[in-house]
Amino acid sequence: MKVRALVAASVAALSVLPIALPAQQPSAALPYTVVTRDARRPLATRVIGGQEMFALDDLARLFTLTVREDAAAGGLTVTSGAQTIVLSTQQPLASVAGRMISLPAAPTRDGRTWYVPVDFVSRALASIVPAGLELRKPSHLLLAGGVRMPRIAARTDAVGAGTTRVTIDVAPPTPHTVTQEANRILIRFDADALDAADLRVTATDTVAAAHQGDAPTTLAIDLGPRFASFRASDQPAPTPGSARIFVDLLAQTETPPPGTQPAPPAPPTPETPPLLDLPTPGGLRAIVIDAGHGGDDIGVRGAQGTLEKTITLSVARRLKAAIEARLGVRVLLTRDADQVVAPDQRAALANNNKADLFISLHANASLRPAVAGAEVFYLSLEGYGDMAQRAAQGSADALPVLGGGSRDIEITPWEMAQARYIDQSAAFARAIEGALRERVPMSPRAVQQAPFRVLVGANMPAVLVELGFLTNAQQEQQLASDEHQNALVQALLEGIVRYRAATGGTR
Ligand SMILES: [Zn+2]
Repeated sequence: MKVRALVAASVAALSVLPIALPAQQPSAALPYTVVTRDARRPLATRVIGGQEMFALDDLARLFTLTVREDAAAGGLTVTSGAQTIVLSTQQPLASVAGRMISLPAAPTRDGRTWYVPVDFVSRALASIVPAGLELRKPSHLLLAGGVRMPRIAARTDAVGAGTTRVTIDVAPPTPHTVTQEANRILIRFDADALDAADLRVTATDTVAAAHQGDAPTTLAIDLGPRFASFRASDQPAPTPGSARIFVDLLAQTETPPPGTQPAPPAPPTPETPPLLDLPTPGGLRAIVIDAGHGGDDIGVRGAQGTLEKTITLSVARRLKAAIEARLGVRVLLTRDADQVVAPDQRAALANNNKADLFISLHANASLRPAVAGAEVFYLSLEGYGDMAQRAAQGSADALPVLGGGSRDIEITPWEMAQARYIDQSAAFARAIEGALRERVPMSPRAVQQAPFRVLVGANMPAVLVELGFLTNAQQEQQLASDEHQNALVQALLEGIVRYRAATGGTR
């Protein structure tokens, strides 16, 4: 019934539109790749009448469709489960669950096989196949079954003498880690595969090339001869539904060796906020406060020009003064000036000083200006692979080490250090969140897990606090104010005290 109604309606509606060209001799064209979680299969295309087309039979086989021809009505029905598409064979039209959609061309028959334009998949089939379909014409991919295959675009720019910036856009936003391994920077995505067709990387002193890594979910940047160090940062999304990563590759002469940098000037003694009568927690020796970003890496910029790197440093200095004054515990800052510090160096400072706690401070960004509130994160092992999972579950002596065998925690592989502290970090995050909630606005998602690079190497309970959203006008004002910074400091201090009280001061 639907077929008749459709064709009658379409003939009336489309009398002014150009009639589809008669089928021309088909020619083979570049196949698509159908990607599911566990397999990749080629899907042939043909160019007929200037249109790239799939054989309906191929689609039927791949996605368990029933195709029936209704010659009397001049239509084809394509059924998946209880849902049906009616395709006109005369007009570039289809009815999908009662809704009319247009196609670039009508179906074309070659012998006994019907061909449909590739857009049939995205415009019609995707809405009736339950597992989901996504057609990506530029990369000739057809994703099925909710496979996570972010599109990766990369380009290089010179930013300042000797530094090459690789800008990586990821759609949709996908958790990732950035690490250096031998002569490569590896960006590992928490995905099933990568759609990395758009890599436009120009070789420089510090970058040789970018390409898909050995694993299907890894992007590799091959390093150039003068590479010295890198820093990676997540940037505000360039467009909705995407995320941007900067990987800055610094040349040798641009980074003085450690120890040669002039000592940063002593910070002004911050005004210590009024404090509650807090008990001194036992067993604490040292705490590392990490002021996020720094130097060229400004982090988030608010509409009024407030920079994340400035807020994090200011709150870090205040927190250090408050902890030292109130708790008598040594506090180290990962930076006490406007300078670049690599993520690994931040955790390394904490490890080298045998710190008991690590707190990384950041300010957040959102595309939606209304989004506001503080959030507390601890490490998610997702994306760090099996070894991290095993490290989290196993005892110290179960940890695999380089060269085989296993030893204790002293030589936990660097990457896995935080894996052993996930539960404690979660408790620490909850303590901080509880204390923040009493003093500052919180995000609806106050405690979360994420695969943050800066946390992964920390060999102690570690959290990352997003103090608020600089993309929210009111929060930008708050974050820049002494009053709000002091409230944050007070809350963080209380969170530390509560966590230590709850854990009895033992590691
Ligand atoms: Zn940040």
